[in-house]
Amino acid sequence: MTHKIAVLPGDGIGTEIVDQAVKVLNALGEDFEMEFADVGGVAYAHHGHPLPEATLNLAKAADAVLFGAVGDFKYDNLERSLRPEQAILGLRKALGLFANLRPAKCFAELTSASTLRPEVVSGLDLLIVRELTGDIYFGTPRGRRTAPDGHFPGAPEAFDTMRYTVPEIERIARVAFEAARKRKNKVTSVDKANVLETSQLWRDTVIEVAKDYPDVTLEHMYVDNAAMQLVRAPKALDVVLTGNIFGDILSDEASMLTGSIGMLASASLNDKKQGLYEPSHGSAPDIAGKNIANPLATILSAAMMIRYSFDMNEQADRIEAAVQKVLSDGVRTGDIMSEGCRKVSCSEMGDAVVAALA
Ligand code: NAD
Repeated sequence: MTHKIAVLPGDGIGTEIVDQAVKVLNALGEDFEMEFADVGGVAYAHHGHPLPEATLNLAKAADAVLFGAVGDFKYDNLERSLRPEQAILGLRKALGLFANLRPAKCFAELTSASTLRPEVVSGLDLLIVRELTGDIYFGTPRGRRTAPDGHFPGAPEAFDTMRYTVPEIERIARVAFEAARKRKNKVTSVDKANVLETSQLWRDTVIEVAKDYPDVTLEHMYVDNAAMQLVRAPKALDVVLTGNIFGDILSDEASMLTGSIGMLASASLNDKKQGLYEPSHGSAPDIAGKNIANPLATILSAAMMIRYSFDMNEQADRIEAAVQKVLSDGVRTGDIMSEGCRKVSCSEMGDAVVAALA
């Protein structure tokens, strides 16, 4: 069966890092059909829009999108709708990508890059499943007005609305429970049910969905406690299920436990298992074009792609094992370099992973 991949390298280091992931995918010897298109600033420069119609159509027709990064300071003065970053929002919306999966894995060889003590993060491997299209970021009504009541009636105020429907909660909960089945069969649902109505509905709904997954253990945690546990004992967590705003904050906190932004993969999925896979970092214009970026986050995103969109668990394991081997062998790009290791370029790192696959 052919799997169609839309490859969108984007700006800055995007091309360099995506080339390495493509190399690794090709080395698997599977039937992938890859088509490339412009996205972000480079798309604006060539076609007048960060997400041209042809790129959008290619992404929609594909089984998965492999995305590099977008953004460049030279586009910062464009009107908002034409800025490179709008391409990601446009793709999320057009593909209905409601589930964001961000693993935070601390490779034993890189524990010294973390700001936490090695014994706290060594062996850390957790997955944040964040709802991406609802919650207070999108809820209406929102806006500015004159306060009708409250502490200062008559004062200018702004307001947003936190909203979730039961089907929205059910579908993200299912993504978390399914992911847990591919891991350690445990889900920690994070909410603020002691204060928020939305969170109480969240909790009630997650408990209902859990009945379909008797093999998965479910626990609940308030978001303030989750923020503490992430730095106190992160290894006690495995799959963390949460809403959009809590997930935004907790996933950044979790990613920093690993200490190295060049290692962090991410996936955004819809209900047809179509997904957009990208490194968690940006386009790094400061190091673009120098062939020194770390491509491992993008290579690990490609592993997520074949695991979650193509159900190729065995091949995904192979890529992750190859990355592990390269690190064990002391091969490092500059950002994760430490004493006694061998410093390599972006493309040499890609070659090393391909060699380790064999
Ligand atoms: P950034 O993630 O691009 O870079 C932050 C720092 O980390 C830089 O010093 C960079 O050199 C380094 N870095 C990032 N990725 C690296 C890698 N793979 N290997 C080695 N070092 C790496 O964030 P920024 O500098 O705040 O933003 C730069 C541009 O990227 C902006 O235009 C921003 O809007 C955009 N951005 C895009 C995305 C995305 O495409 N999803 C995400 C974040 C930022």
